[in-house]
Amino acid sequence: MQLFSQQQLKVTNSLSGKKEVFTPLKEGYVGMYVCGPTVYSNVHLGNCRTFMSFDMIFRYLKHLGYKVRYVRNITDAGHLENDADDGEDKIAKKAKLEQLEPMEVVQRYTVDFHETLQKLNLLPPSIEPTATGHIIEQIQIIEQILEKGFAYEQNGSVYFDVVKFNVSHDYGKLSGRKLEDMIANTRELTAQQEKKNPQDFALWKKAEPQHIMRWPSPWGDGFPGWHLECTAMSTKYLGEQFDIHGGGMDLKFPHHECEIAQAEASNNLSPVKYWLHANMLTLNGKKMSKSTGNNIYPSEIFSGENDILSKAFAPAVVRFFMMQAHYTSILDLSDTALLASEKGYHKLMEGIKCLSTLAPSDTSDFDVNAWKNKCYEAMNDDFNTPILIAHLFEAVRQINLIKDGKAKITVTNQLELQNSMNAFVFEVLGITAPEGNDTTSETLDGVLHLLIDLRNKARANKDFATSDNIRDKLEAMGIQLKDGKEGTTFSIN
Ligand SMILES: [Zn+2]
Repeated sequence: MQLFSQQQLKVTNSLSGKKEVFTPLKEGYVGMYVCGPTVYSNVHLGNCRTFMSFDMIFRYLKHLGYKVRYVRNITDAGHLENDADDGEDKIAKKAKLEQLEPMEVVQRYTVDFHETLQKLNLLPPSIEPTATGHIIEQIQIIEQILEKGFAYEQNGSVYFDVVKFNVSHDYGKLSGRKLEDMIANTRELTAQQEKKNPQDFALWKKAEPQHIMRWPSPWGDGFPGWHLECTAMSTKYLGEQFDIHGGGMDLKFPHHECEIAQAEASNNLSPVKYWLHANMLTLNGKKMSKSTGNNIYPSEIFSGENDILSKAFAPAVVRFFMMQAHYTSILDLSDTALLASEKGYHKLMEGIKCLSTLAPSDTSDFDVNAWKNKCYEAMNDDFNTPILIAHLFEAVRQINLIKDGKAKITVTNQLELQNSMNAFVFEVLGITAPEGNDTTSETLDGVLHLLIDLRNKARANKDFATSDNIRDKLEAMGIQLKDGKEGTTFSIN
């Protein structure tokens, strides 16, 4: 297979903690699984960053010429409140609070999730499976693990035997934890009495009579453990071994560690070649948290309705802001940072717009090929988007020099630069141009001023029927006229 770039792609594999050359299991094809959201509330901005990071990775792999099957699930059952094996199901709890069917909760927040991601220009994954749609597959995996002796049934629930698994396997290899340390640091909890060891985790939980989300199983009515769905859905759609598994850093332990254990216990194969983890987003230097109020929703950024913001920011600016940090680094969001990104975004867009209007020369001062190689070098170095963006600004600097007659570019180079800028900015980084092009808004401005003039003339002539008519018709279209000392102004909703 001929890849678009001749350089080797390297990725940081959490399993080894090192940058490794990316070689897919099957030449030319990539299977990628990313843990999706638990749909019991509006999508969190930190989660948006994680999904955007993997969207950029998905986009770049496709750009390189790989055929990518990207699976990102929806958790619509089994995720308990405290991420351990007790507490209420997050969705069932919300359903009770809001007096809704659990599936109404799921539907509402799945729609919000999709709408938000679409605004941020994320591509839909190839497959978006749900946990409740894969109960049979999850039961089958539990049966396999029981058969291999790495799980045990207790009072209608089935638990994974971590201690027994660790004798022949390595539980903790992804997160770098040792089972002995985990055991030493655990206090016995009463809720865990059913388990042989506190580290054991639930594969299947018995449903108490009041539990609404329940399915029949060989062990009685119950529901699957949270970690199991990802093993079931990733192996179903990507095979028992696949290339990339991604998710937020916070999922490394226990979620991803448990996924490895489940897969290895059921078929003795290490499921994932490259584990990729995206880092978190902080707000004004502190961890985001609903309980402390240090929190912001994507919709509040788009509308500007949050006290920490001086104004609203377009989704494209938010995307550009997030792409300015490496996906494995912590990124801090603040009003100042967003304002700076907004400036940078407009500068970049202006540069791209200007590129097509440059007057070409017979010679070039800008080595477009060398520049393009540097861009690929950045992306092939574990998707280094901040370095790529620095190169994009170097191109903008050159474009401005050419515009001012201080440098030259040939037609061929200009075209190549234009193609590469478009590919990196719109296709790979997924940044979109400002909404509505300037010609349209300039024309609209002109037309409105003409109408305001006509209305003022009608008023001067005491033709109030005409002047009111203009005002009312505009208002019906969402355009408000405001008469003040300085004359008439308008605002568009
Ligand atoms: Zn998962």
